[in-house]
Amino acid sequence: MDKRGGECLGEVVDPLRCAFDRKITVHAGAGGQPLPREEVLPTWEVLSNRPDASSRRALYIHVPFCRKQCLYCGFFMRNLHRDDSPCYTGTLIKEMDQVSGLSAVISHPIHAVYMGGGTPTALDAGDLKRLLEAVRRLFPLADDCEITVEARAADFGKEKFQACVAGGANRFSIGVQSFNTRVRQQMGRIMNRTDVLKMLTTLTDFVDNSAIVIDLIYGLPDQSISIWEDDLRTLTEETGVDGVDLYQLNVFKDSLLNRAVNRGKLPPPADISCQAEMFLRGREIMTAAHFRRLSMSHWGRTSRERNLYNTFIRYGATCIPLGCGAGGRLHGHYFFQERDLKSYYKQVNAGKKPVAMAVRLPACSPLFRNLVGQMEGGKVNLRALGQQYDFDLEAIFSPLLEQWEQTGLLKRHGNGRIELTVAGEFWNVNLAQYLIDCFQQYHQEDGQS
Ligand code: SF4
Repeated sequence: MDKRGGECLGEVVDPLRCAFDRKITVHAGAGGQPLPREEVLPTWEVLSNRPDASSRRALYIHVPFCRKQCLYCGFFMRNLHRDDSPCYTGTLIKEMDQVSGLSAVISHPIHAVYMGGGTPTALDAGDLKRLLEAVRRLFPLADDCEITVEARAADFGKEKFQACVAGGANRFSIGVQSFNTRVRQQMGRIMNRTDVLKMLTTLTDFVDNSAIVIDLIYGLPDQSISIWEDDLRTLTEETGVDGVDLYQLNVFKDSLLNRAVNRGKLPPPADISCQAEMFLRGREIMTAAHFRRLSMSHWGRTSRERNLYNTFIRYGATCIPLGCGAGGRLHGHYFFQERDLKSYYKQVNAGKKPVAMAVRLPACSPLFRNLVGQMEGGKVNLRALGQQYDFDLEAIFSPLLEQWEQTGLLKRHGNGRIELTVAGEFWNVNLAQYLIDCFQQYHQEDGQS
C-alpha cells in the first residue's frame, strides 16, 4: 500500500493534490485466473448455453478501425482500408446470428447496447444502418434499451447520423477531447475548433430523441488550466449536448504520446497537482452550469442522458462481446475476443465464437463490483453491502477508513455509510483498489479463499 495514503497521514496537508504519490487511472479490480487457451472456447460454450437471470444486461460491439491514430490512444488497432466496411459488417452480422439463440443471450431483456472501438463511424452509413438493424432484429432488446454509437467528429455528419438513427441508435458518444485547435490537432485529432462546434450544432439541432454526449480530456500537453476552463465553458455555453465525460489523461507506456514526450517533441502532460486542479475546475463549472453528476467523470444535462452501459459495466453486468477485439463478461468470467482481423474472420466463417482469452473472476467479484459502483457515485453503504454478502465490512475496513477520514478523503456517518470528500472523489480509484486489496488480504488471512 502507498505509504502516504495508508500510513503517514499526519503529513498530508493537501489531500486533493498529495494524498497518494501515484494515481491509479484504470478501473479498480480484483484480478482473476486466466484460463488455459484450450479451455477458452469450451468454457464459453458451456456458459453461453446457461440462462442468465441478471437484471443488468448489455451487448458490446467492437469496430476495430480508425481513420488516423491519436497520440494518446491505448485502443487503436488498425487503419480502415477500402473494403473493410462491408466485409467487417457482414462478418459481424454473421457472428451476431450465431450467438443470438444462445440461452444466456435470450433469457432476459438487454437494456444497453454499446458500439465502440476504434471508431464505429469509420464504417459507411449503409453498413452502420445494417448493423444496428441486425442488433434490433436478433436480440431481445428492452423497449427502452439504450443503444450507443461511439463517433469521431471527423467521421461523422448528417448522413451517418441519420443512418444510425434509422437503424435504432438513440445515443451518440463523440470524442472531442479539447476544443482548442492546437491542443487537439497536436494529439492527432483532425478537425479545428470551428468545425467541431459546427458539427455538434448540426447534430444537436437535428436531434429528436437521441442523446448527444461528448468526451473531454484534461491534462493534455500544452493544455493549460485556462485552456481547460475554456474547453468547459465552450461545452456548457456553446453546445447543446446532453452529457459529457471529463477524463483525466492516461499516458500509456507504449503510446505515441509517451514516445513524443520522451523524445522532446512534445511538452510533458500535466502533473498530478495540475490534474487535481483541473478536476476541481471541472466539478465547479459543471455544477454551476446545472449538469447532474452520473459518476465521478460523467455529467448529464438533460433527462435524455442516462449513461446506462457504463454504469452497468462498473457494477459487473453481464455483457455479451461481439466483434474483433471485443471484451465481455458472463457467469463470473471475462471473455476477450480475437484481436487479429484475419483470425477473427476465419473463426466466424467457420462457425466458431472467436473468443481468444478468458479469466475466471474471484468468488467475491460481485461484492467488489458493487463496491466500485457505489464509490463511483461518491457514497457507499458499507453496512447494507456487508449484510448482502455476509461480511462485516465496517470492521474489515475500519483502520483504512479511520486513516482516510483523518486525511480528509472521506466522511464516516454513524450508520455504516461513507461519503467521499472532493479529494476522495479525485482519488476514488485508489481508494476502491485499496479496499479491494484489504478485503482480499482479510479473506486470505481468515482462510476463506
Ligand atoms: S479515434 Fe479513438 S480509438 Fe481511434 S485512435 Fe483516436 S482515440 Fe483511439
